[in-house]
Amino acid sequence: MKYRRKLFRHRDAFDLKGTNELFLKAMRENCTYAYKHCPGYRAILDDAGFAPDRLQTVDDLADLPFLPTALFKRRRLFSVPRWRLPLVVTSSGTSSGKASEIGFTVGDLWAGLKMVLHICKLRHLLSFTPCHYVVFGYQPKHKNRTGVSRTAFGVTLFTPALSRTYALRWKKGAYVLDLGAVQDAIVKHSKSRFPLRFMGFPAYAWFLMKRMEEQNVQVRLPKGSRLMLGGGWKQFYAEQVDKSEFYALAKKVLGLDDKDIIEFYGAVEHPIFYNDCERHHFHIPIYSRVIIRDPVTLKPVPNGTPGLVNLISAMDIGTPLLSVMPDDLGILHDGCSCGCGLDSPWLEILGRVGMQDIKTCAAGASEILNKVEVEL
Ligand SMILES: [Zn+2]
Repeated sequence: MKYRRKLFRHRDAFDLKGTNELFLKAMRENCTYAYKHCPGYRAILDDAGFAPDRLQTVDDLADLPFLPTALFKRRRLFSVPRWRLPLVVTSSGTSSGKASEIGFTVGDLWAGLKMVLHICKLRHLLSFTPCHYVVFGYQPKHKNRTGVSRTAFGVTLFTPALSRTYALRWKKGAYVLDLGAVQDAIVKHSKSRFPLRFMGFPAYAWFLMKRMEEQNVQVRLPKGSRLMLGGGWKQFYAEQVDKSEFYALAKKVLGLDDKDIIEFYGAVEHPIFYNDCERHHFHIPIYSRVIIRDPVTLKPVPNGTPGLVNLISAMDIGTPLLSVMPDDLGILHDGCSCGCGLDSPWLEILGRVGMQDIKTCAAGASEILNKVEVEL
């Protein structure tokens, strides 16, 4: 996978124009491999009459058949034998219990690590200063192979971790949301000389901050503290909480400024690390490309037009994740419209397709809240 190696070695993580050719070659290389080694993927391409050598220009990427992420919940697609996959992660599943299983080879993990190291520079997330961590997510369990729990844990490795407090704790065979313990930890760590970093679902952060506000608890966290949010704002579509309200509350109860809040976007079926810029926009990094498609014709639409989000990447060899379509609706904006200095386009997620019908709970905090015993 020499082109993937070259791409992931590239120094500027947002130099899309300078890496278009390399990206295309990495895609062709990966697609050819998957076609040869994954019978399920080959069948899909054959069915669509698409051969990997059709990828000759960047525009041809739009013709590569995209796989809905729901497909990975029904079918196991691997391009290498399971024993050669040191990591297999699952999505959080659905109410029907079906979850995607995505395999990573050693090379995939290595590429992923390089990507994270490059992208973390954007918001200076790597540091030798030790931090306390509060994770608004699952306490890791051997049996819990979900991508979100692994990602949340991975983020606590950006600095030396002095402690980790989890909002969802494993007690007597079930996850229990324990916001009281999290709040106690926040109050305690606010007096520490080391920064406190939060990581996890925005919904939990919101519930916690509301709880603090109701109890009139306000802290000023040490300098360098960060509120890092991942797993999407999906649950907020129902809650109708807008970001400015969220940020204002973070300032009020935690003393965190806008610049201290950092968001991530990604999915198990598209393990690319999207880190927001200082204006909270997800610029596309060189490791992926995004196409927005018309919901009816499925044809690509110009920047600025809403549509179905199609995510493209050559990072993963273990599972053919070359072109996937989650349930997200979004808009791709011209890079220059942000004003932060990055000129790569940025992705705005608008919501989910068929919110009423789709019960994917990748970050379905509200759903979890209904199921788990809540200790408030
Ligand atoms: Zn920006």
